[in-house]
Formats: sequence, structure tokens, C-alpha cells
Amino acid sequence: MPPFPDFLRPLVMSGPSGVGKSTLLQRLFAEFPDKFGFSVSHTTRLPRPGEVHGKHYYFVSRDEFLKLIDEGAFIEHAEFSGNFYGTSFMTVREVSGAGRRCLLDIEAQGVRQVKNTDLNPVYLFISPPSLSTLRDRLRGRGTESEASVAKRLAMALKECDYAKEDAHDLVIVNDDLDRAYNLFKRVALGENVDSDRLPPLDD
Ligand code: ADP
Ligand code: 5GP
Repeated sequence: MPPFPDFLRPLVMSGPSGVGKSTLLQRLFAEFPDKFGFSVSHTTRLPRPGEVHGKHYYFVSRDEFLKLIDEGAFIEHAEFSGNFYGTSFMTVREVSGAGRRCLLDIEAQGVRQVKNTDLNPVYLFISPPSLSTLRDRLRGRGTESEASVAKRLAMALKECDYAKEDAHDLVIVNDDLDRAYNLFKRVALGENVDSDRLPPLDD
């Protein structure tokens, strides 16, 4: 991967499932249709209602995913909540080649792997104000079974532990959506912003 000029440096966004990453991204893409590009990951999970192949994810079978791993297609890949997810070199190249800043939404195992590549992104952690708020949002979204909510909450603890290790350049607490979005927008546009403080996340 060639070095990126500053304004095209990829932005790796992570944070527990249900914290509001897709909501923030959707707003950004709606406000700036030409400036940014989403790194469309491959996944073996089934599409949720409204999710579009090639836009939200490339939905593939487990065999197809394993073949892509063998072919060296992925910058990083991980198993999360019983499904595979991966970022392909192709998708990041396509976005960056089009002169757009590439935004990745990946979980912590993927972030660790990206740190061993030459992608050199900015690492942003989206934090919930508290774990109980996260639980409510995940349930409130209505996309997950109770078993899936439980798995995702267990993974959320790991995401938060990783953030407590100071693994990210910046933290945004998604408490009030307008406030969080304004901060997110400024980070995405490459402005210098003060990071939020990571909440205790112990409730
Ligand atoms: P993620 O992409 O991180 O898994 P989503 O963007 O799907 O999370 O958000 C999970 C749920 O929380 C959605 O129902 C969304 O509308 C809601 N949500 C997102 N941000 C906020 C916020 N700041 N306050 C209240 N609800 C929110
Ligand atoms: P969801 O199933 O809710 O869309 O995503 C579950 C988790 O997988 C989220 O934390 C999301 O950030 C992460 N994820 C999505 N795509 C990728 C990817 O390509 N690589 C990795 N490592 N995680 C991903």
C-alpha cells in the first residue's frame, strides 16, 4: 500500500456493536457524498433487512471467505460473534484511488492486525456513555436475537478493555448524537480536535 497524503490517511473506526458507528457514518456520507468512501468489508453473516450487497458488506459464504484468505485478499480479517469479517486490499485501494478518504469500521482484533501493516490510519474509538446504555441500544435496534445480543455484549467488554489500553488516537463518546456527530465530522475532515475522555465503562 503506498503512503497516503495526510488528507487521504484512512480513518479506522471501532467500538462495540450497537454504539452507533453506522449511524455516525450514515450521517457523514449524507452530508459529504463526495469526500469519503466506506471500506466495504466482506462478511459471512446474513444481511439485515435493508442491507445491500456491495454497499454495506460483500455477503459471501464461508467457503468463499476462506478462499479469499488463501488468496491473500485481506489486509485484516477476524471472527466475530460466529461470523467472519475482513477488509480487502481491493476495497481500500478503490476508495483511496478515487481520491476519497477511506473510513473503516472494524472490531478490535482487526485493529490489532492493521497496526502491523503499513496502512498508517488514524485510530478512532467510539465509546458508549455506559455499558447499560449500550445494552439498551443494541436491544433497541431490534436486529439481534437475545443470544446475539449476549454475544455482542461479551465482545463489547473486550473492545472497551482494548480502548482502556490507550490503543486509539482519539475517543468520541456517543452520548448525545448531535454532539458526537459534530466531533466525528471534524475528525473525518482532518481537523485537530480534543479527544473525549474514556468513561469508566464499569456498569
Ligand atoms: P453500530 O453500527 O455501532 O453497531 P448503530 O449505528 O446500528 O450501531 O446504532 C445502534 C442503535 O443505537 C441504533 O438503533 C441507533 O439508532 C441508536 N443510536 C445511535 N446513536 C445513538 C445516540 N447517540 N443516542 C441514542 N441512540 C443512538
Ligand atoms: P455487524 O455484524 O454489527 O455489522 O458488525 C460486527 C462487528 O464487526 C462490528 O464491531 C464491526 O466493526 C466489525 N467489522 C465489520 N467489518 C469488519 C472487518 O472487515 N474486519 C473486522 N475485523 N471487523 C469488522
